[in-house]
Amino acid sequence: GAAAAAPPPRQYKLAPQSELRVEVLPDSPLRVRLVAGTAEIFGTELPPEGWVPVPPRSKIAIFTWHGATVELDGVSESEYTSDETPMVIYVNTHAILDARRARARVAAVQGGDLEASQGPRVIVVGPTDSGKSTLCKMLLSWAAKLGWKPTYVDLDIGQGSITIPGCISATPIEKPIDIVDGIPLEMPLVYFYGHPNPSINADAYKVLMKELAKTLEKQFSGNAESRAAGMVINTMGWVEGLGYELLLNAIDTFKANVVLEKLWKMLKDAKPNIDVVKLHKSEGVVLRNSKYRQRTRSFRIKEYFYGIANDLAPHSNIVNFSDVSVYRIGGGHQAPRSALPIGAEPVADPTRLVAVNISTDMIHTVLAVSYAKEPDEIISSNVAGFIHVTDVDIQRKKLTYIAPCPGDLPSRLLIASSLTWYEA
Ligand code: ADP
Repeated sequence: GAAAAAPPPRQYKLAPQSELRVEVLPDSPLRVRLVAGTAEIFGTELPPEGWVPVPPRSKIAIFTWHGATVELDGVSESEYTSDETPMVIYVNTHAILDARRARARVAAVQGGDLEASQGPRVIVVGPTDSGKSTLCKMLLSWAAKLGWKPTYVDLDIGQGSITIPGCISATPIEKPIDIVDGIPLEMPLVYFYGHPNPSINADAYKVLMKELAKTLEKQFSGNAESRAAGMVINTMGWVEGLGYELLLNAIDTFKANVVLEKLWKMLKDAKPNIDVVKLHKSEGVVLRNSKYRQRTRSFRIKEYFYGIANDLAPHSNIVNFSDVSVYRIGGGHQAPRSALPIGAEPVADPTRLVAVNISTDMIHTVLAVSYAKEPDEIISSNVAGFIHVTDVDIQRKKLTYIAPCPGDLPSRLLIASSLTWYEA
């Protein structure tokens, strides 16, 4: 449709501990500027001067502790102020975590054991749209502002706040998260599950969590600083049945010692030895239906190739079928029925690697490029990045793809997925 006529820039005077909530349209630019006082967006302070572009489709809150005047320029989907926020409780939680980090650092300096020198491993749980990712961002940015380098672990394969959906990933946060660029992507550690839903292969999801946890444990054992800073772990919004089981599994796998529960007090009895804190959801958290989430997933994939502001140009490339090997994790059967003893049922091996023939079914799907040297290392290896299949020519046996970087693929071992994105 035609773009609405842009309203003139407007200023909002925010009382202490209140926030301006803004929803940005998909294709109308919106920018914000601090005029007076101090304000932050999900834990990251607005710069004292200059306009900050707010990424399309984002839903943000500009919060002030001590009062501020801010100015908006551009069309928004909605904008309103509120003084009912859970921010004081959130920042108190941050203060408790900060004290634990300080204690861990002292223990490390005094040569304490691994347990004493381990900072908080916080896991944030709750249903979708309870503000989990947002709380993670605030806790990370507040910690980074004080000089800590906490590790962000994202187990939410449905949305993916570090990289594309379908991944289990981690990255150190060394400075408050950039309002425009988001989570820094210099050194994420990414394991590829390949689906937005854990029920497709829950065992593979568990194995990948274990691999990520193992790698982080190794990094922490050689780095007292990141060990003391600890982890902030974001989880899926699925909190019932298998989702609940996977949450318990995640707590054990990452040795989480603080659970922050949004909305729901469910883990108290299940994990009596862990601190479980119930936190309220902000009324500002925007509800997104499953269709919206599906679209967001698709945009996240597009962003990986084209940039958040659509400012990157991916590179198109062609490989022969024989230049690459594509594998799928699990789903195959260990042995054909004919090879089994009479009466035995074939068992699906969830983490077995199955070679996949390249077919036109792969068009529009994402493939991960594995760091594995051999196929049997794929499940235990992290991935270098992703390609998006744009064409498959069966006759000439050629696959066309786009990648964020030019040049040859860093590896010939690729992992298939059910993640798709269609160029409009
Ligand atoms: P979850 O991770 O639990 O699914 P999110 O943290 O992603 O939920 O929050 C859902 C949406 O609401 C996100 O787009 C987020 O930016 C937005 N949001 C969260 N808190 C606020 C707030 N106080 N004001 C406006 N939007 C918010």
